[in-house]
Amino acid sequence: MSYFCDRIEKMAAYVPGEQPEAADVIKINTNENPYPPSPAVMAAIRSITELQLRRYPNPTSKPFRCAAAKLFGVTPDMVICSNGMDELLRMVIQACCDATRPVAYATPSYTLYSVLAETIGAPTRSVPFPQEYSLPVEQLAATDARLFLVVNPNSPTGTFVPIDEVSRLARMVEDRAIVGVDEAYVNFAGDNAMRLVRKHSNVIVLRTLSKGYSLAGLRFGFAVASEPIIAMLNKVKDSYNLDAVAIAAATAAITDDAYARDTWKKVIDEREELIPRLRQMGFAVLPSQSNFLLATVPAGASAEKIYLGLKERDILIRYWSTPGLNDKLRITIGTPDQNARLMDAIGQILGGTSAQASK
Ligand SMILES: *Cc1c(COP(=O)(O)O)cnc(C)c1O
Repeated sequence: MSYFCDRIEKMAAYVPGEQPEAADVIKINTNENPYPPSPAVMAAIRSITELQLRRYPNPTSKPFRCAAAKLFGVTPDMVICSNGMDELLRMVIQACCDATRPVAYATPSYTLYSVLAETIGAPTRSVPFPQEYSLPVEQLAATDARLFLVVNPNSPTGTFVPIDEVSRLARMVEDRAIVGVDEAYVNFAGDNAMRLVRKHSNVIVLRTLSKGYSLAGLRFGFAVASEPIIAMLNKVKDSYNLDAVAIAAATAAITDDAYARDTWKKVIDEREELIPRLRQMGFAVLPSQSNFLLATVPAGASAEKIYLGLKERDILIRYWSTPGLNDKLRITIGTPDQNARLMDAIGQILGGTSAQASK
């Protein structure tokens, strides 16, 4: 007899990207921002008082909600905060899904979704992306899902679907389902779905400070939606889900939006430099509106060997052995220096077979 629920016994755990201890590793495997957070963030953390630590924090991260409301032109009650967006995804799935209420999404996408659904015994409906990674709106809408999750820009592809397509899906399922737009990478894209929150009663936009604001270690996510949606999610929120340090730091981060914007521009410029260089080496690279690239390795080359060869050289990128992805590598955009070292190392590895044979 097991101590645990059948579905927990049976399910596989989520596997996050590696987090190496060594500081000198070029870490371009989990889409972190290569630049430090705003100095205002560090100042906010330094000015935390003993009183703030002794007392419970604001239960709804109100200072952040007010700052976000100002930034996005919404009311503070249209904003909810979470311990990273991952917690928010759990809250949305918990509030919208159960054994009779499936969640649907296009694949390949964020692999945490199916794990979260499994923990509560909710069925999943996955619809494969077509070749060009447009949103399969009709096929998604044809499922019996009560929650749709659209990652835009998508991971691991980096591709972006027009907001009008997200809007079309929201309209088609407005009578029965929430559409969550996972905008983890939106700061590196040309458009976003924030305006849909006013247009549709069923759209919730999910954001994180992990990537755009260089704060993956802080754990801070938030969502914007109509007040009734946010009120419902508040029911499944932990009572004090964010600590006083995180609230102060995150509020400083979005208040200094100009600083973050500067890092986004640097990352975007570098992304557009890296794409043609990889293509010259024979990689097929999808157009990206995010801070990473999905590159199919040149004919005859092994993605796994390149991944391992880079790891030997202290450069960490992401590789999946799953069918459909096992000829591809996901590379986070680093600083110009990191990217130059990446390209040198790939050149060595690809040229390596002939060099070794001639020894
Ligand atoms: C990084 C990421 C998240 C979650 O980020 P947090 O660090 O938990 O805020 C959510 N969705 C996608 C697609 C991501 O890549």
